[in-house]
Amino acid sequence: MLKQIQDALRRAGIDAALLTSPQNRRYATGFPSSAGVCLITAKGGHLFTDFRYIEAAKKRAGQSFQVDMVRRSYADMVNEVCRQDGVKAVAYEENSMTCAEHMQWEQALEAKMVPMGALLSDLRQVKTQEEIDCCIAAQRIAERALAETLQDIHVGVTEKHIAALLEFRMLDYGGEKMSFDPIVVSGKKSSMPHGVPSDKTIEAGDFVTMDFGCTVGGYCSDMTRTVAVEYATEEMQRVYDIVLRAQEAGIAAAKPGVTGAQVDKAARDVITAAGYGPCFGHSFGHGIGIDIHELPLAAPKYDKPLADGNIISAEPGIYIPDRFGVRIEDMLVITPEGCRDLTNAPKHLTICK
Ligand code: ZN
Ligand code: ZN
Repeated sequence: MLKQIQDALRRAGIDAALLTSPQNRRYATGFPSSAGVCLITAKGGHLFTDFRYIEAAKKRAGQSFQVDMVRRSYADMVNEVCRQDGVKAVAYEENSMTCAEHMQWEQALEAKMVPMGALLSDLRQVKTQEEIDCCIAAQRIAERALAETLQDIHVGVTEKHIAALLEFRMLDYGGEKMSFDPIVVSGKKSSMPHGVPSDKTIEAGDFVTMDFGCTVGGYCSDMTRTVAVEYATEEMQRVYDIVLRAQEAGIAAAKPGVTGAQVDKAARDVITAAGYGPCFGHSFGHGIGIDIHELPLAAPKYDKPLADGNIISAEPGIYIPDRFGVRIEDMLVITPEGCRDLTNAPKHLTICK
């Protein structure tokens, strides 16, 4: 990504970018680490890290980045390069740097610090084929874990047991780590969109909502399926079908040039027309990449247009307090013609026995 970031710096008239968050360091260098600093100037890319990571960092990032072990302090290393490359101003990550870190950097750096704004997040929104392939690989692992775990969902098992099976299988099938702690909620608890898996046992007639994903190459997958146990009442089936129709309407609307708000509205209109408007209290979707929630959004107030290469979730839901909830979530990649659904798992209402 070095060249893309250098091009963006040049377009923005900024001398250099100081990448301090693990997410942006990884985006730029491809190398995951909890400690380190990446500096990109018009002349080159530098990755500074400590003894724990240096060997792996050289192997992973050494072809395009100058990788050095930190001496004295990261600020000293940054100052040295800035002097060599004639850098007068350095863009920093104002969204992830703490006030204390900012004060330290500002005291130590010879160059002026300027906020980075949307420089990196604009780049990260448009995925390369390699990035898309990582998300797809992570999604296939999640689907495989789900397909097997559906056999284990029956009366008497707990939400935690189901969550543990999903986690174990995603790791076992090649996931690096979870995209986030899996959500498994059942029965009345399924009306809580982000409920936490508990010791509650699954009962006949429960909806079970599972929202989960893993990472491959540092990139997340994200999916939700809601299944019924033993049977679904007519009302459950009806609400499920409304959510599915809403999702399909949102997916049909997602294409370059259409705003996130318009995509959200296409889905929301279906739910509102069916009389469940107040029961859909979150957005239709969010960007997915190195972060599980990133830009762009498919949300009521997000008026920026989608672009070829964006990856967004499509996840409408209906939540009826103290009764039940349904959410169905796929991942979409925006293409020149429209979008491609990256999720292969079936979407008809599955009844687990
Ligand atoms: Zn999700
Ligand atoms: Zn999501």
